[in-house]
Amino acid sequence: MADRFVTRFAPSPTGWLHRGHAFSALSAFRAAQSRAGRFILRIEDIDATRSRPAFEEAILTDLAWLGLAWEQPVRRQSEHMADYRTALDRLQARGLVYRCFRTRREIAEDIERAPHGAMEAWRGGPLAPDDEARRLAAGEAYAWRLSLDAAARDLGGFGALSFIERGNGPNHETGLIAARPELGGDVVLARKDVGVAYHLAVVVDDALQEVTQVIRGQDLFEATHVQRLLQALLGLPTPTYAHHRLLLGPDGRRFAKRDRAETLRDLRAQGVPPAQLIAEFGLD
Ligand code: GLU
Repeated sequence: MADRFVTRFAPSPTGWLHRGHAFSALSAFRAAQSRAGRFILRIEDIDATRSRPAFEEAILTDLAWLGLAWEQPVRRQSEHMADYRTALDRLQARGLVYRCFRTRREIAEDIERAPHGAMEAWRGGPLAPDDEARRLAAGEAYAWRLSLDAAARDLGGFGALSFIERGNGPNHETGLIAARPELGGDVVLARKDVGVAYHLAVVVDDALQEVTQVIRGQDLFEATHVQRLLQALLGLPTPTYAHHRLLLGPDGRRFAKRDRAETLRDLRAQGVPPAQLIAEFGLD
C-alpha cells in the first residue's frame, strides 16, 4: 500500500542513549503501531571518528529492552556513501554547493563582526577560482557547503517551500509551516574527510526508505527547515513532521549525551523496568 505510514528512529552511535532518545524512539514506534505502519531503525554512523560498534550494540540492546521491534536489515549510513555522493554530485553539477576552507573558529569570528551580531546565519560563497586552486594544491581541508544564494536563485526564492507539522515546534508551530532554510545559513553537506554530512544523508535516506512521517525532538526543528530545502533541490518527496517536546532533567536542563548517569544502559543495569520510563513519559 503506497500510502502506508512509515516512520523511523535514526540515532548516531556516538554515545550511549539516554531518556530523551527513549522518548523519541517510543514516540515513533507507537505512532507506527497505532497506524498499522512500519517502524524503521537507521544507524547514522557517517562520522567514523566518533561512531563506535559498542555504541551501536548498546542501541540495539536498549531499544529491545524498551520493547521495540524494527525491520531488518537495518540501514547503516556508512555502508551507503555512494548514495550520498550521487546526491552531492547532482547539487555540485548545478552550482548549488561550494568548497569552504574556513574553520569553525573563522566562521564564528565572521559572525561576531557582522553588523547584526551572532543571530545572523552565516553565508560564505565560493572563492575566486585561482585562490581555490591554490588552496587545493596546498592540500588545505575544506567542506562542501550549500549556497543559500544559489539555492534561492535556483528555486526563485524560498516562498513556495513549506512542510506539515503534526507535532509542535519549539514555539508551538503546528500545521502548515513556511520553511525558512535561511535560518541555518550555508550548511555543511559534506566534509573532506567524511564525504557527507548529516542533512544530506538524512534527506537521501528518508526518501529512499519512503519515510512518510519524521518523528523527532524539537531540537531538530531548525534542521527540518534546511532539509525541506534540500528535498526541493533534489526533487525528493517531503514527509510530514512531528516534533516532540524535549524531556527535562531534574535540573531543568534537557537530557544530553553528557549526562552519563541518565543512560538507558545504566537504567537497565539498575533494574529500572521499562514500564517505569513509559509511565514517566506519559505514554501508557
Ligand atoms: N542522527 C540524528 C541524531 O542522533 C537524528 C537524525 C534525525 O532524526 O533526523 O541526533
